[in-house]
Amino acid sequence: MDLEDKLLMMPGPVPVAPRILRAMSKPMINHRSMEFSKIYDDCRKSLKKIFNTNNDIFVISGSGTAAMEAAIGCTLGKNDSIVAVENGKFGERFKIIASRYGKVIPAEFEWGESIDLDLVEDKLSEGAKAIAMVHNETSTGILNPAEDIGKLAKKYDALFIMDGVTSIGGDEVMVDKWGVDIAVVGSQKCIGAPPGLSMISVSEKAFDLMEGVDSVPYYSDLKAYKKSADKELTQTPYTPAIPLFYGLQESLNIIMEEGMDARINRHRTFAMAVRKAMESMDIEMFPSLNEYSGYSNTVSAMKAPESINGNDLKREMLERGIIIAGGQAHLSGKIFRIGNMGNINANSLLTTLQSLETVLHKHGHITDFGAGIEAASDVLDKVL
Ligand code: PLP
Repeated sequence: MDLEDKLLMMPGPVPVAPRILRAMSKPMINHRSMEFSKIYDDCRKSLKKIFNTNNDIFVISGSGTAAMEAAIGCTLGKNDSIVAVENGKFGERFKIIASRYGKVIPAEFEWGESIDLDLVEDKLSEGAKAIAMVHNETSTGILNPAEDIGKLAKKYDALFIMDGVTSIGGDEVMVDKWGVDIAVVGSQKCIGAPPGLSMISVSEKAFDLMEGVDSVPYYSDLKAYKKSADKELTQTPYTPAIPLFYGLQESLNIIMEEGMDARINRHRTFAMAVRKAMESMDIEMFPSLNEYSGYSNTVSAMKAPESINGNDLKREMLERGIIIAGGQAHLSGKIFRIGNMGNINANSLLTTLQSLETVLHKHGHITDFGAGIEAASDVLDKVL
């Protein structure tokens, strides 16, 4: 089976629309030129609409983790402390990054469990400079309460650093309204572009609190990004990944054409279709929700049924040409995940669910075909 015949339904990278691929094949340009400056300005303008912010936005040539490290490394000095909220793999990553720059006050929950806001508040009251949280925890399919964390951060005068790697561009994110000082997203997720770029918004307060921070990373020093972006010809401090900027610009054009409201509605409807299909096939969702959390609208995580290990399920889906994700770290084999990020369409989702039915049927988990597809179609009809 050729690569092109496979359907990428994992939580990033996502399928890249042909017009984005075409945009990336343009000739190289000088990165200190008017042409590049226009592309960067155009991207930053669209990104502000997607992030819902008036804060500065920069594009880093590096994946989402580069932006996570930029956020932490530029704000956290050796003697500063940060509350690191962890209820999945990427919350853990924030904690590990933070431990290299400053002092971590961990707010840890079982992966897949919801965040207890009282516990987070207790940790914040210890007097942290910042709090870091993943909005959409891709590893467990849970949507964490960003707005509530923003309120707590404000109450304790802490910077709010938010990983929006798999929410921004697919789900609602209100950076200014929620009081997010630094928000990050990766190009290969809901934005629908190839991997390799990350975008980061930074508030004035965050810039103020960067003064005097020791051991700031060199490549991802956000003050250098600001200085270059503020030049007459907007630019990046170091040579940017120019073809990826072409691709990003085109993917942002697609987002602007679709409109963020429609895009969010599509992502939410697709995730709902997956959940309804799972319910009808007796497959349990993995996350445990509380009153503040929700199921992710961009990736669904399900418990593997008794009859088949999650990794085998993933492999058998791959044999049918569909790439889904398994569980990470200790969740390997226990869960499986289906992404619905970026520019995928309803047909891709239905094809995925149909193959899943086939695998589940083969392993005796379901006896009849069609319940999953029917449940999903009922939901999808609303946006078709
Ligand atoms: N944060 C979240 C929520 C993610 O889902 C990912 C990647 O899957 C990352 C951070 C890391 O991003 P990258 O792999 O682009 O460095």
